[in-house]
Amino acid sequence: MPGIFEAATSGRAKCRGCGQAIARGELRFGEKLPNPFGDGEMTQWYHPLCAAYKRPDVLLEALGQPGAPDGRDALEQAARGSLAQPRLPRIDGAERSPSSQARCRQCKEPIAKGDWRIRLVFWQDGQFEPGGFVHLGCRAAYFETADVLAPVLHFSKLDDAARAELTAAFA
Ligand SMILES: [Zn+2]
Ligand SMILES: [Zn+2]
Repeated sequence: MPGIFEAATSGRAKCRGCGQAIARGELRFGEKLPNPFGDGEMTQWYHPLCAAYKRPDVLLEALGQPGAPDGRDALEQAARGSLAQPRLPRIDGAERSPSSQARCRQCKEPIAKGDWRIRLVFWQDGQFEPGGFVHLGCRAAYFETADVLAPVLHFSKLDDAARAELTAAFA
């Protein structure tokens, strides 16, 4: 069985998708993976929407099984959107670049200090690895769709004013 939905039995697990704690009693999604350290399986936990964006194929498979949760239409829509282009599950939010050192994976130019950049992660061997950045303005070329505001906002750790600035920068 690839994935399960259940109410979190403690507040200790962190979501693999966003890094935030999953509150006790909150619905969580568990992906079962082979245990890399020995026999059997391990379970990696996510907020359901975080899994929809970052592990869309696994979440969709679980949604097709009995016991899928309330709100499944929104989850299914987010997962199908993320599956539409193969690079979309790499989205890990946006931030203003703290320096001019990183280069954009799309255009290969440096990302200027203070400019918005989209963080990327790559799913590899059962975990997410940091995958660099793209200019906000290079999103359409990199993701092959410009429609990435929802997942970018979802994974951005920004205050309300910065979220408003980011949303405006998309326009
Ligand atoms: Zn999460
Ligand atoms: Zn670029």
